[in-house]
Amino acid sequence: MKILVQKFGGTSVATADKRAMVAQKIIQAKKTGFSMVVVVSAIGRKGDPYATDTLIEIVKEMSAEVDLRELDIVMSCGEIISGVLLSSTLKNMGYSCCFLSGAQAGVITDSDHGNASILKIEPKKILKKLEENSIVIVAGFQGLSEEGEITTLGRGGSDTTAAALAVALNAESVEIYTDVDGVKTADPRLVHDTKTLEEVTYSEICQLAYEGAKVIHPRAVEIAMQKNIPLKIKCTFDNNPGTLICANGGSIERSSIRVTDRMITGITHSTNITQIKIPVPGDDSFLSKRVFNALALAGISVDFINILPEILLFTVKTDVAKKAVKVLENLNIQVEKTEGCAKVATVGAGMTGIPGVVAKVVEALTEQNIKIYQSADSYTSIWCLIDEEDLEKAVNALHKKFI
Ligand code: ADP
Ligand code: MG
Repeated sequence: MKILVQKFGGTSVATADKRAMVAQKIIQAKKTGFSMVVVVSAIGRKGDPYATDTLIEIVKEMSAEVDLRELDIVMSCGEIISGVLLSSTLKNMGYSCCFLSGAQAGVITDSDHGNASILKIEPKKILKKLEENSIVIVAGFQGLSEEGEITTLGRGGSDTTAAALAVALNAESVEIYTDVDGVKTADPRLVHDTKTLEEVTYSEICQLAYEGAKVIHPRAVEIAMQKNIPLKIKCTFDNNPGTLICANGGSIERSSIRVTDRMITGITHSTNITQIKIPVPGDDSFLSKRVFNALALAGISVDFINILPEILLFTVKTDVAKKAVKVLENLNIQVEKTEGCAKVATVGAGMTGIPGVVAKVVEALTEQNIKIYQSADSYTSIWCLIDEEDLEKAVNALHKKFI
């Protein structure tokens, strides 16, 4: 049995017309001989009736203290609704089809409600339905804990479901359908003249995704990579070839190694960041230990850390910034915070060892009078922390400079 996993994101299943286009993609692939497993996200985006954010709001309106276990039960409904609607669409077109929730599909997770990890997949039921020649539709983003509780996987969870099913079913490939026709050199919402990358390696896309390119969740890439299963990012609403993600050139044998000659893969960004500055008094060599221990104990994750003799600099997500400041002030630590920051990253495996890349980043930003609050780099990325108001200008300036 040749299995293909397709995943359709929220905008792809938002209306009856769009679900009809989704059905066409599924039928086209089935006609080429694949047994089809289709993962769906909840319908639409924030504000739409059954979107995940809308469901969360309904529960949070009732009470400030939300029971995470019960929130997961409500959140899991979004994918169930869109999955059943897609299944009905295909049945109305005369196709044999079966919808399964994450639990019914055998997606077993740990019990970290709201951010669960998939432990294993028990694909017996899916395989049985495929053998009966049914198209199997699975609700993304959800599973069942070993205690029998409904769990959800966190943001981008449907991508993860699709990749995990592909690994468990030994699928030929995973196709991620969304509202853009592939991985681009920057977010097309900010930059108008982006290029679509025909091919990227697993590691290139992981870097882009970890730095904020939300076109695919990095966890999904890591899972697919374990079994060398190729991923394709495509658009539901056109027939463009999209982007192939694999360890090597798609047309080349799976076992050969791809050498990328690209210096920069793309420019990515993330927002809702608060910078925290802590001056270090001359005699306090243990301050950094106290700061980071206290934040760790409070469960606050920190990023962009610069520890200097006279100052500690780091960032936190803005939604936990108040809590972070409170934790530190309770220890009598003097804190300065700058809200409304954004991070822009210039990403590319090919920049390793090439002189002048940092100079070009700084040049691109300073030419536009963009103030850099902090910067850092690794072999494959250069990050700059800037004012969120400068974000669009910054991403465009870097894109123009490098791509
Ligand atoms: P879905 O609901 O289908 O999962 P997402 O909103 O999660 O869709 O991801 C698709 C979006 O990712 C696009 O609409 C685009 O704005 C954004 N995006 C950010 N960076 C990139 C990039 N480098 N290439 C393509 N899309 C990107
Ligand atoms: Mg997504």
